[in-house]
Amino acid sequence: MVSCPDDRMRKEFIAMKSFDFHVPTHVYFGAGSVLKVKDVAASLGKKALLVAARDSMRTSGILGKVEGLLRDGGVQVATIDDVDPNPTAEAINRQTQVFNREKCDFTVGLGGGSSMDSAKAIAFLAANGTDIRQFLAGGSNPGLAGVKDARPILCITTTAGTGSEVTPWWVITNTDRHEKPGTGNDSTMARAAIVDPELMLSVPQGVTRSTGIDVLFHAMEAFLAKTATPFTDMLCREAMAIVVKWLGKVIDNGRDLEARSQLAFANTIAGIAIGEGKSSTVAIHSLGHSIGGQTNAAHGLTMAAVGPAYLRRTWQADPARYAEVARIFGADSGLSEQKLAQGSADALQSVLKRFGCFVTMKDLGVNEGMIEAMTDSAFFSMKGCLDCSLMELSRADVVQLYKESL
Ligand code: NAD
Repeated sequence: MVSCPDDRMRKEFIAMKSFDFHVPTHVYFGAGSVLKVKDVAASLGKKALLVAARDSMRTSGILGKVEGLLRDGGVQVATIDDVDPNPTAEAINRQTQVFNREKCDFTVGLGGGSSMDSAKAIAFLAANGTDIRQFLAGGSNPGLAGVKDARPILCITTTAGTGSEVTPWWVITNTDRHEKPGTGNDSTMARAAIVDPELMLSVPQGVTRSTGIDVLFHAMEAFLAKTATPFTDMLCREAMAIVVKWLGKVIDNGRDLEARSQLAFANTIAGIAIGEGKSSTVAIHSLGHSIGGQTNAAHGLTMAAVGPAYLRRTWQADPARYAEVARIFGADSGLSEQKLAQGSADALQSVLKRFGCFVTMKDLGVNEGMIEAMTDSAFFSMKGCLDCSLMELSRADVVQLYKESL
C-alpha cells in the first residue's frame, strides 16, 4: 500500500496516468564502455556484419578498434563502411546481399543513426526478403504483418542524437518516392547498445549541432505528445535541461568528455522516451522527415526549421506543458503560465539561435513548389507522429506551417 502524505498529493497520485514500459536492450553507458563489445559479441552469433559510417569510422580509428574487439570476443567479422547520412533503400538491399553472401549471423551498427538504422534494416531484411521497399510506406507490407524476427542487432552509437540504439525504429529513404518513413517492430530493438562518449569526441562541430538539436526535439515532442506518461515526462524534462545546459559547451569544445557524456546521456534517455517509454514524437517529426525526403538535409535541422511555427500554432492545446517547456528553455519564469506558453516558440527560437541552429526551410533547399508533395508525404508516411500531436492538424494547417517556415 502506498501512502500519500496529504490530500492534495493523494489526488495527484490517483489522477496519474497509467503507463507501462519495457526496455529490452542491455545498455552499456560510459567512457570506455566500447570494451564491452568483446564480452557481448559471442552471445549474438558466430559472424558479424559490421555496418559503419563512411570514412569517419575508419579515419577516427574507431572502426579498427571495434573490428579488433569483435575478433577478440571470438566472432568473425565482415565489414562494410559505406553508410551515408540518410540511408537509402538501394543501399540496404545491396548491403543485405553482403550479409547473406558472407553468411553473417548478426549486424553491428557503428556510427550515428544512419549506421544503426542500416544495421537494423539489414538484420530485418535478411530474415524477410530482398527489397526493403516492400516494408516501407507505399510497399506491399508497410505494417510488417506476419514478418519473421530480425537477426540480432548490436548498436554502437557514435553521435548523441537519434537514440536509435534504444528504439525499435529505422528510417530509410525511399528515393523513388522522395520519402523518409520510419518503421520497426520489437525484433528490431538492439539486443545490446554501447553508448561510449569517448567515441563521440571526433564528431565534427556541424554534426554535433544538428544531432544535439535532434535530442532536444525528441525530448520536447515526447513531452508535448498525447502519449506522454509520468515516466517519459521525467526523462524528457531531464533531457531538455541537459541539452540547454551542455550543448553550447560541446559545440565550443568537442573534446570536452564531460559535456559529451552529458549529451550522450540525454540522447539515450530521450530515445527511451520516444521508443520503449511509449511516448512519441509529434507533427514536427512528420514535417521534418518530409523535408529530409526532398532535400537530404541533416535530420536535426529539418525539425529546427519547422519547430517554432509548430509551437506558435499549438500552444493553446496545453498551456501548462508549453509553459514548462518555455521555462526549461530559459524564459522568464515570473511570467504567467499563459504568457510563457504563448512565448514558447520564441523561447525555442532563442535556444536554436544560441546553438547556431536557427534555419529556415529555404536554408535547407526547400522552395514553395515542394510544399504540396511534402504535405502529402507527412500525412502518408509519417501519419503516426501527426496523430500524437496534442492539437489535431488538418492538411491546410500543415501547408500553412510549412509556408510560415520557408
Ligand atoms: P549520421 O549517422 O547521418 O551521421 C552524420 C555524419 O556524422 C556522417 O557523415 C558520419 O560519418 C559522421 N559521424 C558520425 N559519428 C562520428 C564520429 N564519432 N566522428 C566523426 N564523424 C562521425 O547522423 P545522425 O544524426 O546520428 O543520424 C541521422 C539518421 O538517423 C537519419 O537518417 C535520421 O532520419 C535517423 N533517425 C533515426 C531515429 C531512430 O529512432 N531510429 C531517430 C532519429 C533519427
